[in-house]
Amino acid sequence: MKGTVYLIGAGPGDPGLLTLRGKEILEKADVVVYDRLVSPAILGMCNPKAKMVDVGKMPTHHKVKQSEINRLLVQFACEFPGGVIARLKGGDPFVFGRGGEEALELVAAGVEFEVVPGITSAISVPAYAGIPVSHRGIATSFHIITGHEKADGRTCHPERSEAESKDPGQNLSLDFETLAKCPGTLIFLMGIANMDFIARRLMECGKDTKTPLAFIEKGTTPYQRTVMATLETAGEKIARENVTAPAITIMGGVVELGQTLAWKKNLPLAGKRLVVTRAAKQASGISARLTALGAEVIETPMIETRDVIPAKAGISSADFNALANFDILAFTSTNGVESFFRQLFAAGYDVRVLAGKKIASVGKITEKKLLEYGIRCDYVPEDHTGEGLGRLLRDVVNKEERVILSGERSSESKDLIESRILLLQGNLADDTLLKLLPQATRWVVYETLPVAELPEWKREAVAGADAVVFASTSAVENFCSVILSGERSSESKDLNRESLTTPASCSPRLAFCIGRMTESAARKHGYETVTSDETTMDSLVKKIVEHYKKES
Ligand code: SAH
Repeated sequence: MKGTVYLIGAGPGDPGLLTLRGKEILEKADVVVYDRLVSPAILGMCNPKAKMVDVGKMPTHHKVKQSEINRLLVQFACEFPGGVIARLKGGDPFVFGRGGEEALELVAAGVEFEVVPGITSAISVPAYAGIPVSHRGIATSFHIITGHEKADGRTCHPERSEAESKDPGQNLSLDFETLAKCPGTLIFLMGIANMDFIARRLMECGKDTKTPLAFIEKGTTPYQRTVMATLETAGEKIARENVTAPAITIMGGVVELGQTLAWKKNLPLAGKRLVVTRAAKQASGISARLTALGAEVIETPMIETRDVIPAKAGISSADFNALANFDILAFTSTNGVESFFRQLFAAGYDVRVLAGKKIASVGKITEKKLLEYGIRCDYVPEDHTGEGLGRLLRDVVNKEERVILSGERSSESKDLIESRILLLQGNLADDTLLKLLPQATRWVVYETLPVAELPEWKREAVAGADAVVFASTSAVENFCSVILSGERSSESKDLNRESLTTPASCSPRLAFCIGRMTESAARKHGYETVTSDETTMDSLVKKIVEHYKKES
């Protein structure tokens, strides 16, 4: 059995434009193979335990060749039997995304796959600039064209191709005669480097030199920019305004509607990337508010979980046979469910070892998680608490005890029955259940630890940010130690780097802080600080907005 590959469209940039289906798969992915244009916010939605593979730039900062990507997908499908391999691509996977080629390879290798369409930049990016691709009386069709196709008919890799094109236009095999006659809206992807050539050829073939066109750079992201031109000024505008990839070019009468319909507000934090450190779950409030003000927020949680059955439960991972000693398995968190099954499967077992056992869950969310593994719960307490679960299992055990006693097998003591309950929990779970079920056995299946390291993609996102937001001294300390440990490990690969010794030198220099204590902790680590007047999130958000208003 191999894993399944999901070719997922990430949409054009705004993380809100990822589909629900795409998000659902990313949350449970074992591996995520992603392209350069995918936003950090979407990478942040992926299962934190997933192996993240950047094929836009890897491993020595060269993009991975398409044939290598195809090979990797098949390899991961074999390495993760029954697993979920997400192939995450910008926009829609089948719109100049080479999704078709990848799918063909998967078919050839006998790997199952699914396609999760995405919102293509071709239509959504103009929409974010207030340009409808069709409009009654102006354009009755629209045409999506690659501005970068090799003469042999292969489109180049969508990432980078613009920047890499040394010989504008030479490779293009477009039928300019037909395109010039086409009355509909023309939308060029990957066309910036060749646009001067494309515009000239279209004019030579008779297209009106005054045709309005717009270049939309980094559309739908906080960095979106629209530059208007006409066919005759296209090349000159690109050079003068320094239009850079990723950008699309849209041509035709509909472009003029953009003057009236440009709806995207110029938000006060547009174009700013802010790192929000979270001690636990509490920072989501501030992230949402900064996002609503136009910022791109990189959340860096400071705790993580790790599987631990072999170490903590005193059994080797191959010793899941011990499960035979238990009749009831009780789960108290989705993390517990995931860790348990991950380790069970890794040790070569499958769900059949649970045959005949009763399964208990503390609440509905854990129950739902179990259902994902094909397991229906026998016991879920009404009140969804550890105490409720403990009492419920007590009752179950007592009832069984009565049955056994009335069946005159009185040698089976109550203790023995209770000891057949196995609790599968994290190291921070309190003792409520154990207290109510003193003879039960507990396996710690996962541990919660301070985050030791940021994933590569997140370190890069942090390095490219404008500022860090700190709400407590512990957030400062945790963040700095994580950043420094990441730097040390990359420094060891690159011994020539000597200067990177303070957190502020490998993350943005500016820190927005709540409270004087937080401020002095951040200063101690070399940050320049801007501190809120009051120790509230409201006051901090206000301060951040004021800071950037002053700057501009
Ligand atoms: N599959 C993608 C397109 C891949 S080709 C899709 O459906 O959108 C890559 C090209 O898409 C880029 O060169 C650029 O022309 C365009 N593009 C992708 N994202 C964009 C964005 N956010 N803003 C402007 N253009 C974008």
